[in-house]
Amino acid sequence: MPGIGGPLRGETLGAMTDDGVQSGRSLKELLAIEEALRVSEQRYRVAFETSLDAIGITRIDDGMFVDVNRQFFTMVGYTREELVGQTSLQGCTWTDSEGESHPAEFIDVTGRSTLDIGLWEDSAQRAELMAILRREAVCRGFEARFRRKNGELFWVQLSASVIQLDGVDCVLFVTRDITAAKAAEEEIRNLSLYDDVTCLPNRRHLLERLQARQQTAMGNAKSALLSISLDHFRTFNDSFGGAAGELLLREMARRVETCVRECDTVARSGGAEFAVLLGHLCGSREDAAGQAQEIARRVLERISEPCGVAGQICHCTASIGITIFQERGLSGEQIVQQSDIAVDHARVAGRNTIRFFAPALQTAISERVAMEADLRRAMTSNELMLCYQPQMDRGNLTGAEALVRWRHPTRGLLLPSAFIPVAEEAGLIVPLGEWVLENACRQLARWSHSGKMRDLTLAVNISAWQFRQPDFTEKVLDTIRRHQVDPQRLELELTESSLVEDVDAVVMRMGELKAHGLRFSVDDFGVGYSSLSYLQRLPLDKLKIDMQFVRNLLIDPGSRAIARAIISLSQALGLRVIAEGVESEQQRKHLSELGCDAWQGFLCSQPVVAEEFEELVAGEKAQRLPARTGSR
Ligand code: C2E
Ligand code: CA
Ligand code: CA
Repeated sequence: MPGIGGPLRGETLGAMTDDGVQSGRSLKELLAIEEALRVSEQRYRVAFETSLDAIGITRIDDGMFVDVNRQFFTMVGYTREELVGQTSLQGCTWTDSEGESHPAEFIDVTGRSTLDIGLWEDSAQRAELMAILRREAVCRGFEARFRRKNGELFWVQLSASVIQLDGVDCVLFVTRDITAAKAAEEEIRNLSLYDDVTCLPNRRHLLERLQARQQTAMGNAKSALLSISLDHFRTFNDSFGGAAGELLLREMARRVETCVRECDTVARSGGAEFAVLLGHLCGSREDAAGQAQEIARRVLERISEPCGVAGQICHCTASIGITIFQERGLSGEQIVQQSDIAVDHARVAGRNTIRFFAPALQTAISERVAMEADLRRAMTSNELMLCYQPQMDRGNLTGAEALVRWRHPTRGLLLPSAFIPVAEEAGLIVPLGEWVLENACRQLARWSHSGKMRDLTLAVNISAWQFRQPDFTEKVLDTIRRHQVDPQRLELELTESSLVEDVDAVVMRMGELKAHGLRFSVDDFGVGYSSLSYLQRLPLDKLKIDMQFVRNLLIDPGSRAIARAIISLSQALGLRVIAEGVESEQQRKHLSELGCDAWQGFLCSQPVVAEEFEELVAGEKAQRLPARTGSR
């Protein structure tokens, strides 16, 4: 059996024998020495085998195990034979410096055994230990994670020293399983990181998370820190006692938690203060601020709901300060300071309110809030209107797309880009979409009485939010019924983002509307997912080639290729296809050559008000000439 006795004995005896022969010792003396060595070696072996610590000896160069004791091989779940003298571990993987993992036995091909590397969760740690040993020959108290044969990871503490066996550099490891101790340590750490009243992470924990976030922050993603201070908490505490105060804190902590996403952190950052760390906010700084404000508003609302504590119904309010951050430069402390400053502003502003740290953001947000209020009013006070942009097919005007406009009392005519994003964020897109549908149907109903207009189709844009409303189908059908319009005249334009989520539900919803004769087209096709898997499953009628491909059709081969692919795709799937944003006769001609004869764009007309659209139709009928640009 290969073991510690073999090489140690050989090495020691060899040296001694040479020495003995040279110094001319008697045979009796030599036998006595050998006996002494045998006894000593036996003692070592007994110590080695009976040690409560797991001991292993590996060669430095290739990591091959020279010997292990019972504690060691049982700890790692192998037999002695599977370890000692072997050059690879079956079923073990090994991670290289690039983080790629390889089966340990593959490494043998390169001539390097990775026997003990396979035991290390992180081979870099082994390299680190070896570097220490090369420098200092011994290392104590090194902590690492090992992997058992069954894949289970566990913590060990190692003491290691370099020894020579038969002239080969080896490492002797004395290893102890410290998993239980680590778990206890972790528990203690947890206890010091959580607040025991609310069980939320405490301020220190929050700072650690902020710090970690700052160190790994990448790209454009923004985060927000909300400081939430319960107004007049001290008065409550003084009047009703500490126990009631704790109950209130627990209830408020729970409420704050219901307002955030799974990935966000809610912490108790002080006596009557909570903090919320929101990560992964998308878009610009203003967009991130908008999302943070939305959550802050929800928190204010939840906190102000009546709450029964200590036999009292109390009404709480809170002041919230928000800071938006992205850059790596700020420390956790600085970020907390910023949100604390903002919460002070909120208190000064009269409490039960929200303030941002950056004055510029505050202005932007105030404008947004004003815009929201404005938009709510606009929907009821006749400030919204629809324009119609003709859709052509082989020189015939076949229909129109309804596009919303806002005649703002002070800002003039606003295009959708100025208010649709605000409406989406404020949850106003649903009522706005309903307004559009209502008015589009009213218009269709009017046109159904006119000979020239009755055959035209009208396309209406449906936002993803609107489409996902549980009562969407019902509302559409109800609107159609009330205005008595022919459902076949109405086409709903959906974007790909509406279609790819929960395809089964989408198929059902569309199916129901299709059964009544409505049609569906995919707007801005080509810029999103464009995945065959959903296209094949959905009962669609038409794809709209996004205008960016049309714009670049004649100058960019990539755009041309995409346009061509969309046209072939629609042909393959039996769908109709229309190009939008056609501005020149060359573009129209080129599209026609590619097989797309339907189009929409300034080449025919800009979106125009209903009366102007009716004139367009009348004129078109007379001269069958599309080239005219209307005014808004
Ligand atoms: P969209 O659905 O892709 O609408 C086409 C947009 O392209 C319209 O801008 C239209 O005026 C513009 N356009 C049309 N022909 C040309 C052209 O030849 N060249 C150029 N450069 N542009 C052209 P608009 O009206 O500003 O609408 C912008 C977006 O706002 C729409 O894009 C749509 O996503 C959204 N939108 C408009 N109305 C509604 C609505 O009622 N509901 C919803 N949810 N969204 C709407
Ligand atoms: Ca559209
Ligand atoms: Ca479009």
